Amino acid sequence: MLRRIRTDGDPVLRTCAREVKEVDEYVRRLIDDMLETMRAASGVGLAANQVGLLRRIIVVDVGAGVVAVINPEITACGEGEKAEEGCLSLPGQRVPVKRAPRIELRGLDRDGQPLVLSAEGLFARALQHEVDHLNGILIKDYREEWIVRDE
Ligand code: ZN
Repeated sequence: MLRRIRTDGDPVLRTCAREVKEVDEYVRRLIDDMLETMRAASGVGLAANQVGLLRRIIVVDVGAGVVAVINPEITACGEGEKAEEGCLSLPGQRVPVKRAPRIELRGLDRDGQPLVLSAEGLFARALQHEVDHLNGILIKDYREEWIVRDE
């Protein structure tokens, strides 16, 4: 089922998502909905916040297969690299964001089994972007001019 993608200004994008306690049919259906919604919008990733659900679930597909992770935790490695990112919740905006070039990610898969994966490049970037969403962080928060204006 397609779900409506929430855009900037919706408080759900600024709220921390809750841990998933049990990976059940509801969670699996939600993952399927998120994948369908992400593909329909030609996105490479989506977090549950973006479809209005405050659960710690992300989906990513940067062209090398689908990854769905429940309760993701990231260990970042290496000095940050800056590259422009877009976001389905911020249509038309591109923001340079510094991200770790390599990460290790732990969480649960759609069967509730422990999952560990290593990622680099665009895949690592997309995973970090989606985990940010679960913590209420948007790419526009990385805009440097905002910091300058505050001085
Ligand atoms: Zn996004």
